[in-house]
Amino acid sequence: MAHEEPGKSAPPTKLVIRNIGLLLSGDLDQPILDADTVVAVGDRITTVGKEKEVDTSGATVTVDAKGVALAPGLIDSHVHPVCGDWTPRQNQLGWIDSYLHGGVTTMVSAGEVHTPGRPKDVVGLKAMAIFAQRAFHAFRPGGVKIYAGAPVIEHGMVEEDFKELAAAGVKILGEVGLGSVKDGKTARQMVGWARKYGIQSTIHTGGPSIPGSSLIDKDMVLETDADVIGHVNGGHTALPDDQIVALCVRSMRALEIVHNGNERSALLALRMAKELGQLKRVILGTDSPAGSGVQPLGIVRMIAMLSALGEIPAEVAMCLATGNTAKMRSLNCGLITPGREASFVLMDKAQHSAGKDLLDSIQKGDLPGIGMVITDGAVSAQRSRNTPPATRVPEVEK
Ligand SMILES: [Zn+2]
Repeated sequence: MAHEEPGKSAPPTKLVIRNIGLLLSGDLDQPILDADTVVAVGDRITTVGKEKEVDTSGATVTVDAKGVALAPGLIDSHVHPVCGDWTPRQNQLGWIDSYLHGGVTTMVSAGEVHTPGRPKDVVGLKAMAIFAQRAFHAFRPGGVKIYAGAPVIEHGMVEEDFKELAAAGVKILGEVGLGSVKDGKTARQMVGWARKYGIQSTIHTGGPSIPGSSLIDKDMVLETDADVIGHVNGGHTALPDDQIVALCVRSMRALEIVHNGNERSALLALRMAKELGQLKRVILGTDSPAGSGVQPLGIVRMIAMLSALGEIPAEVAMCLATGNTAKMRSLNCGLITPGREASFVLMDKAQHSAGKDLLDSIQKGDLPGIGMVITDGAVSAQRSRNTPPATRVPEVEK
C-alpha cells in the first residue's frame, strides 16, 4: 500500500497532474473549472490552474492526464462494512478494493449491522462502534478511506453514552431504525444527544430491507429529524410517492438516494429537489453490501442513471456524489480546491459509447471509463478493472 504516513523528516510528495481535458469541481455552484493542472503536496490539493501559470517544479510524481476528465474521488454515503475487506452479506472478500475501481475513494458507514453476532446491549454496541472506528481508520483497502464506527441506537441508551462515544472518536450513528428504537420520540431524543456531542445521524427510510428490519414512515423520519434522510428512495422498498414528496418539502435535511433502492422513487426525489431549488441536499450512496450483492460500480451507475433519466447535466450529477456529500457530511474531500484531500478519479468516455464526449456519454446513460484513481496524493489504481475501458488513459510520467 502506498499510503503510509511519511516520516516526519521525509519531504512531502508533490503530485502534478497535467493535461487535464475537463476539470469537474464537485461544486454545484460551478461544476466545471477552467483549468488543466492540479498540484498536491502530501495528501492535500495546493494549486488548481493552467499549467503555464502553475509551479510544477520539484514534482515527485507527474501524471499526464492525456486530455481526460478529472473529478474528486467519489463518495459512497451509505455502506455497511463489517471488518477488514470482507462482507458476510454475500460472503465476499476484497469488495472495498473493487469499489476503488469504480472511482470511490471515500465511504461512510451507515452501521456495521451485518456483523455476525452484533451486540445489542449498550456496552457491547459502544465497544463495537469504537472498534470499527479504530480499525477502519487504520485500514484502507486499496487506499479507500472508510468512516466507520456507526452505532445503531437501542433502548436503554442515555445521554452519557453519546458523550462517551464522541469522546472516544465516534462521529456518526448507524441508521436509526435498525435497532430496537422504532418510535420517533425516543429517536428524536437520542439523535439530539448525538448532535449535541458532534455525532451525525442517518435514518432508515421506507420498508424493511431484510427480514428483521422494519418500516420507517415519513412521520417517524420527520419527528426524528436525523441529519440525513437515509435512502429516501427506499432500501429497497420505498415509501408512497406522497410521503417522499412530504420529506422533500417539509424537511431541510440531506436527501440520500441509493443504488439499492427504488429507481422510480429516486427520480421522484431528484425531481422534487430540483423543483425546490435544493439539489444541494441530494447525496448518493449504494446501501451495500446488501441482498443484491456488492456494487463496485454503484456510484457511477447512479450518476449515469440520474443524469440520463433525471435529466440533469452529467457534471451536476457528479456533484451529487462528491461535493454535495462532502458538505452534508462535513468531510474534507469531494471538491477540487486548495486545502481539500487530494483524492481524484480520472475518466474518459468509454470505448464505443455513442456519446460525443464523456459528459454526453453519461447523459446518454453510459458509464464512464475510469483510467486512474488517486487517494491522498498517491496513485492507487490505473486502468479500472471494473468499468468499461476508457478511450484515453492517463499515464504516470515519472
Ligand atoms: Zn436502511
